[in-house]
Amino acid sequence: MLDVCLLGTGGMMPLPNRWLTSLLARYNGSSILIDCGEGTQIAIKEKGLTFKPIDVICFTHFHADHVSGLPGLLLTLGNAERTEPLTIIGPKGVERVVNSLRAIAPELPFKINCIEITEPTKSFNINGYILEAFKVNHNVTCYGYTIKIPRAGKFDPQKAEQNEVPRSMWSKLQKGAIIEENGKTYTQDMILGPERKGIKLTYCTDTRPVSQIWENAKDADLFICEGMYGEPGKEAKAVEYKHMTFYEAAELAKKANAKEMWLTHYSPSLVHPEEYADEVKKIFPNTKISKNGRMTTLEFEEK
Ligand SMILES: [Zn+2]
Ligand SMILES: [Zn+2]
Repeated sequence: MLDVCLLGTGGMMPLPNRWLTSLLARYNGSSILIDCGEGTQIAIKEKGLTFKPIDVICFTHFHADHVSGLPGLLLTLGNAERTEPLTIIGPKGVERVVNSLRAIAPELPFKINCIEITEPTKSFNINGYILEAFKVNHNVTCYGYTIKIPRAGKFDPQKAEQNEVPRSMWSKLQKGAIIEENGKTYTQDMILGPERKGIKLTYCTDTRPVSQIWENAKDADLFICEGMYGEPGKEAKAVEYKHMTFYEAAELAKKANAKEMWLTHYSPSLVHPEEYADEVKKIFPNTKISKNGRMTTLEFEEK
Protein backbone atom coordinates (compact mmCIF):
# COMPACT_ATOMS: atom_id res chain seq x y z
CA MET A 1 0.00 0.00 0.00
CA LEU A 2 1.01 3.57 -0.68
CA ASP A 3 0.43 6.30 1.91
CA VAL A 4 -0.15 9.68 0.36
CA CYS A 5 -0.22 13.13 1.95
CA LEU A 6 -0.74 16.33 0.02
CA LEU A 7 1.13 18.60 2.40
CA GLY A 8 -0.06 21.87 0.93
CA THR A 9 -2.26 23.16 -1.85
CA GLY A 10 -1.00 26.69 -2.57
CA GLY A 11 0.61 28.12 -5.68
CA MET A 12 3.00 31.11 -5.84
CA MET A 13 3.14 31.91 -2.12
CA PRO A 14 2.18 30.24 1.13
CA LEU A 15 -0.83 31.70 2.94
CA PRO A 16 -2.01 31.27 6.51
CA ASN A 17 -3.64 27.81 6.47
CA ARG A 18 -2.43 27.05 2.97
CA TRP A 19 1.07 25.67 2.53
CA LEU A 20 2.66 25.48 -0.89
CA THR A 21 1.88 22.40 -2.94
CA SER A 22 4.03 19.40 -2.05
CA LEU A 23 3.36 15.70 -1.95
CA LEU A 24 4.72 13.13 0.45
CA ALA A 25 4.22 9.46 -0.41
CA ARG A 26 5.46 6.49 1.59
CA TYR A 27 5.97 2.91 0.47
CA ASN A 28 7.76 0.13 2.32
CA GLY A 29 9.22 2.47 4.91
CA SER A 30 10.73 4.85 2.37
CA SER A 31 9.29 8.29 1.63
CA ILE A 32 9.39 10.39 -1.51
CA LEU A 33 8.72 14.10 -1.49
CA ILE A 34 7.61 15.84 -4.67
CA ASP A 35 8.27 19.59 -4.58
CA CYS A 36 9.51 21.47 -1.58
CA GLY A 37 8.38 25.08 -1.42
CA GLU A 38 8.84 27.45 1.48
CA GLY A 39 7.23 26.02 4.60
CA THR A 40 7.16 22.39 3.47
CA GLN A 41 8.97 21.24 6.60
CA ILE A 42 6.40 23.00 8.78
CA ALA A 43 3.64 21.22 6.86
CA ILE A 44 5.38 17.88 7.52
CA LYS A 45 5.65 18.67 11.24
CA GLU A 46 2.06 19.83 11.40
CA LYS A 47 0.89 16.45 10.10
CA GLY A 48 3.06 14.64 12.67
CA LEU A 49 5.03 12.94 9.86
CA THR A 50 8.71 12.14 10.16
CA PHE A 51 11.58 13.45 8.05
CA LYS A 52 13.88 10.52 8.46
CA PRO A 53 12.39 8.13 5.89
CA ILE A 54 12.62 10.75 3.09
CA ASP A 55 15.03 9.10 0.65
CA VAL A 56 14.04 10.87 -2.54
CA ILE A 57 13.06 14.45 -3.35
CA CYS A 58 11.73 15.26 -6.83
CA PHE A 59 11.28 18.69 -8.30
CA THR A 60 8.71 19.39 -10.97
CA HIS A 61 10.56 22.60 -11.95
CA PHE A 62 12.69 25.35 -10.48
CA HIS A 63 10.19 28.06 -9.63
CA ALA A 64 10.62 29.28 -6.05
CA ASP A 65 7.23 28.04 -4.86
CA HIS A 66 8.45 24.49 -5.59
CA VAL A 67 12.08 24.56 -4.37
CA SER A 68 12.75 27.29 -1.80
CA GLY A 69 11.99 25.01 1.16
CA LEU A 70 14.94 22.73 0.37
CA PRO A 71 17.78 24.29 2.43
CA GLY A 72 15.71 24.32 5.63
CA LEU A 73 14.61 20.75 5.08
CA LEU A 74 18.20 19.61 4.45
CA LEU A 75 19.32 21.27 7.69
CA THR A 76 16.51 19.53 9.58
CA LEU A 77 17.46 16.17 8.05
CA GLY A 78 21.06 16.87 9.10
CA ASN A 79 20.00 17.72 12.64
CA ALA A 80 18.09 14.44 12.77
CA GLU A 81 21.50 12.81 12.26
CA ARG A 82 20.70 11.35 8.91
CA THR A 83 23.69 9.61 7.37
CA GLU A 84 22.01 7.70 4.54
CA PRO A 85 22.40 9.33 1.12
CA LEU A 86 19.55 11.41 -0.30
CA THR A 87 18.55 11.35 -3.97
CA ILE A 88 17.30 14.56 -5.59
CA ILE A 89 15.67 14.25 -9.01
CA GLY A 90 14.74 17.18 -11.24
CA PRO A 91 14.95 18.79 -14.66
CA LYS A 92 18.21 19.82 -16.33
CA GLY A 93 20.26 21.97 -13.94
CA VAL A 94 19.13 20.21 -10.76
CA GLU A 95 22.67 19.91 -9.43
CA ARG A 96 23.37 23.62 -9.96
CA VAL A 97 20.10 24.61 -8.24
CA VAL A 98 20.69 22.25 -5.31
CA ASN A 99 24.28 23.45 -4.89
CA SER A 100 23.22 27.11 -4.91
CA LEU A 101 20.58 26.46 -2.27
CA ARG A 102 23.13 24.48 -0.29
CA ALA A 103 25.35 27.54 0.09
CA ILE A 104 23.41 28.11 3.31
CA ALA A 105 23.50 24.43 4.32
CA PRO A 106 27.06 23.52 3.39
CA GLU A 107 27.86 20.89 6.01
CA LEU A 108 25.50 17.98 5.99
CA PRO A 109 26.20 14.55 7.49
CA PHE A 110 24.83 12.77 4.40
CA LYS A 111 25.57 12.63 0.69
CA ILE A 112 23.26 14.06 -1.95
CA ASN A 113 23.02 12.34 -5.32
CA CYS A 114 21.45 14.57 -7.97
CA ILE A 115 19.80 12.96 -10.97
CA GLU A 116 19.08 15.23 -13.91
CA ILE A 117 16.23 14.43 -16.30
CA THR A 118 16.97 15.54 -19.85
CA GLU A 119 14.63 13.24 -21.80
CA PRO A 120 10.88 13.83 -22.34
CA THR A 121 10.19 10.79 -20.13
CA LYS A 122 12.32 8.86 -17.67
CA SER A 123 11.67 5.88 -15.45
CA PHE A 124 13.38 4.99 -12.17
CA ASN A 125 13.20 1.89 -10.00
CA ILE A 126 13.36 2.95 -6.36
CA ASN A 127 12.81 0.87 -3.23
CA GLY A 128 10.21 -1.40 -4.86
CA TYR A 129 8.23 1.22 -6.75
CA ILE A 130 8.55 2.75 -10.20
CA LEU A 131 8.82 6.51 -10.60
CA GLU A 132 8.07 7.90 -14.03
CA ALA A 133 8.80 11.51 -14.96
CA PHE A 134 7.06 13.06 -17.96
CA LYS A 135 7.57 16.48 -19.47
CA VAL A 136 4.64 18.90 -19.36
CA ASN A 137 4.17 22.43 -20.71
CA HIS A 138 4.99 25.37 -18.40
CA ASN A 139 7.03 28.53 -19.05
CA VAL A 140 10.14 26.70 -17.83
CA THR A 141 11.00 22.99 -18.17
CA CYS A 142 8.59 21.12 -15.94
CA TYR A 143 7.83 17.45 -15.26
CA GLY A 144 4.90 15.53 -13.84
CA TYR A 145 5.53 12.31 -11.89
CA THR A 146 3.77 8.97 -11.66
CA ILE A 147 4.42 6.50 -8.85
CA LYS A 148 3.53 2.91 -9.69
CA ILE A 149 3.58 -0.11 -7.46
CA PRO A 150 3.50 -3.23 -9.59
CA ARG A 151 1.67 -6.32 -8.39
CA ALA A 152 2.89 -9.75 -9.35
CA GLY A 153 0.50 -12.42 -10.59
CA LYS A 154 -1.09 -15.05 -8.36
CA PHE A 155 0.74 -18.29 -7.63
CA ASP A 156 -0.33 -20.86 -10.25
CA PRO A 157 0.56 -24.44 -9.16
CA GLN A 158 -0.49 -25.87 -12.55
CA LYS A 159 1.93 -23.58 -14.33
CA ALA A 160 4.65 -24.53 -11.84
CA GLU A 161 4.08 -28.23 -12.62
CA GLN A 162 4.03 -27.59 -16.37
CA ASN A 163 7.36 -25.79 -16.11
CA GLU A 164 8.71 -28.65 -13.98
CA VAL A 165 9.64 -26.43 -11.08
CA PRO A 166 10.51 -28.56 -8.01
CA ARG A 167 8.09 -27.97 -5.11
CA SER A 168 10.96 -27.11 -2.77
CA MET A 169 11.57 -23.93 -4.78
CA TRP A 170 8.00 -22.62 -4.90
CA SER A 171 8.05 -20.39 -1.87
CA LYS A 172 11.52 -18.97 -2.60
CA LEU A 173 10.56 -18.15 -6.17
CA GLN A 174 7.38 -16.45 -4.99
CA LYS A 175 9.57 -14.13 -2.96
CA GLY A 176 11.46 -13.17 -6.12
CA ALA A 177 14.50 -15.46 -5.88
CA ILE A 178 16.24 -16.72 -9.02
CA ILE A 179 17.50 -20.28 -8.59
CA GLU A 180 20.05 -22.13 -10.72
CA GLU A 181 20.02 -25.93 -10.46
CA ASN A 182 21.39 -28.64 -12.75
CA GLY A 183 21.97 -26.15 -15.54
CA LYS A 184 18.42 -24.78 -15.44
CA THR A 185 17.37 -21.30 -14.29
CA TYR A 186 14.14 -20.98 -12.32
CA THR A 187 12.38 -17.61 -12.11
CA GLN A 188 9.19 -16.21 -10.61
CA ASP A 189 7.33 -15.99 -13.91
CA MET A 190 7.49 -19.83 -14.18
CA ILE A 191 5.09 -20.20 -11.26
CA LEU A 192 2.96 -17.03 -11.36
CA GLY A 193 -0.08 -16.07 -13.41
CA PRO A 194 -0.34 -12.78 -15.33
CA GLU A 195 0.61 -9.54 -13.55
CA ARG A 196 -2.28 -7.98 -11.63
CA LYS A 197 -3.36 -4.35 -11.46
CA GLY A 198 -1.02 -2.41 -9.19
CA ILE A 199 -1.28 1.02 -7.56
CA LYS A 200 -0.88 4.21 -9.54
CA LEU A 201 -0.60 7.83 -8.47
CA THR A 202 0.03 10.74 -10.84
CA TYR A 203 1.00 14.23 -9.70
CA CYS A 204 1.30 17.21 -12.00
CA THR A 205 1.34 20.92 -11.51
CA ASP A 206 2.33 24.12 -13.31
CA THR A 207 1.37 23.19 -16.84
CA ARG A 208 -1.15 23.64 -19.60
CA PRO A 209 -3.43 20.61 -20.06
CA VAL A 210 -1.35 18.66 -22.58
CA SER A 211 -2.13 15.10 -23.72
CA GLN A 212 0.98 13.66 -22.02
CA ILE A 213 -0.76 14.27 -18.71
CA TRP A 214 -3.85 12.15 -19.24
CA GLU A 215 -1.81 9.53 -21.07
CA ASN A 216 0.47 9.23 -18.06
CA ALA A 217 -2.42 9.34 -15.59
CA LYS A 218 -4.35 6.62 -17.48
CA ASP A 219 -6.47 4.60 -15.03
CA ALA A 220 -4.67 6.15 -12.04
CA ASP A 221 -6.09 5.39 -8.62
CA LEU A 222 -5.36 8.99 -7.72
CA PHE A 223 -4.61 11.94 -9.98
CA ILE A 224 -3.36 15.08 -8.23
CA CYS A 225 -3.48 18.06 -10.55
CA GLU A 226 -3.04 21.80 -10.42
CA GLY A 227 -6.11 23.98 -10.52
CA MET A 228 -4.78 27.52 -10.46
CA TYR A 229 -8.11 29.14 -11.27
CA GLY A 230 -11.68 28.20 -10.41
CA GLU A 231 -13.50 31.46 -11.10
CA PRO A 232 -15.15 31.92 -14.48
CA GLY A 233 -13.34 34.12 -17.02
CA LYS A 234 -9.78 33.05 -16.10
CA GLU A 235 -9.14 30.97 -19.21
CA ALA A 236 -6.94 33.63 -20.90
CA LYS A 237 -4.87 34.04 -17.74
CA ALA A 238 -4.35 30.28 -17.54
CA VAL A 239 -3.06 30.30 -21.12
CA GLU A 240 -0.81 33.34 -20.55
CA TYR A 241 0.85 32.02 -17.38
CA LYS A 242 0.83 28.39 -18.52
CA HIS A 243 -1.41 27.07 -15.79
CA MET A 244 -4.82 25.38 -15.73
CA THR A 245 -8.35 26.07 -14.66
CA PHE A 246 -10.26 23.58 -12.50
CA TYR A 247 -12.26 22.62 -15.57
CA GLU A 248 -9.23 21.88 -17.71
CA ALA A 249 -7.91 19.66 -14.91
CA ALA A 250 -11.29 17.88 -14.69
CA GLU A 251 -11.26 17.20 -18.45
CA LEU A 252 -7.84 15.58 -18.03
CA ALA A 253 -9.08 13.40 -15.17
CA LYS A 254 -12.03 12.32 -17.31
CA LYS A 255 -9.86 11.46 -20.30
CA ALA A 256 -7.43 9.60 -18.04
CA ASN A 257 -10.31 7.60 -16.53
CA ALA A 258 -8.78 8.30 -13.11
CA LYS A 259 -10.62 6.98 -10.07
CA GLU A 260 -10.27 10.21 -8.14
CA MET A 261 -8.79 13.69 -8.62
CA TRP A 262 -7.44 16.07 -6.01
CA LEU A 263 -6.98 19.68 -7.02
CA THR A 264 -4.01 21.67 -5.73
CA HIS A 265 -1.81 24.74 -6.47
CA TYR A 266 -4.55 27.34 -6.10
CA SER A 267 -3.80 30.94 -6.95
CA PRO A 268 -3.44 33.09 -3.79
CA SER A 269 -6.31 35.19 -5.18
CA LEU A 270 -8.57 32.13 -5.04
CA VAL A 271 -9.66 32.37 -1.41
CA HIS A 272 -12.52 29.85 -1.46
CA PRO A 273 -11.77 27.17 -4.04
CA GLU A 274 -14.59 24.99 -2.63
CA GLU A 275 -17.14 27.46 -4.09
CA TYR A 276 -16.48 25.94 -7.50
CA ALA A 277 -16.84 22.30 -6.45
CA ASP A 278 -20.29 21.79 -8.01
CA GLU A 279 -19.21 23.23 -11.34
CA VAL A 280 -16.07 21.10 -11.61
CA LYS A 281 -17.90 17.93 -10.51
CA LYS A 282 -20.19 18.28 -13.53
CA ILE A 283 -17.12 17.37 -15.61
CA PHE A 284 -15.42 14.93 -13.21
CA PRO A 285 -17.66 13.87 -10.31
CA ASN A 286 -14.94 12.38 -8.10
CA THR A 287 -13.05 15.67 -7.69
CA LYS A 288 -11.78 16.72 -4.27
CA ILE A 289 -11.05 20.39 -3.64
CA SER A 290 -8.06 19.53 -1.48
CA LYS A 291 -6.90 21.36 1.60
CA ASN A 292 -3.63 21.21 3.52
CA GLY A 293 -2.65 17.75 4.63
CA ARG A 294 -5.22 15.67 2.74
CA MET A 295 -4.26 12.01 3.23
CA THR A 296 -5.19 8.62 1.92
CA THR A 297 -3.81 5.11 1.61
CA LEU A 298 -3.95 3.49 -1.79
CA GLU A 299 -4.26 -0.28 -1.67
CA PHE A 300 -4.28 -3.15 -4.13
CA GLU A 301 -7.73 -4.09 -5.38
CA GLU A 302 -9.12 -7.22 -3.73
CA LYS A 303 -9.62 -9.32 -6.86
ZN1 LIG B 1 3.98 26.90 -8.95
ZN1 LIG C 1 5.81 27.40 -12.00
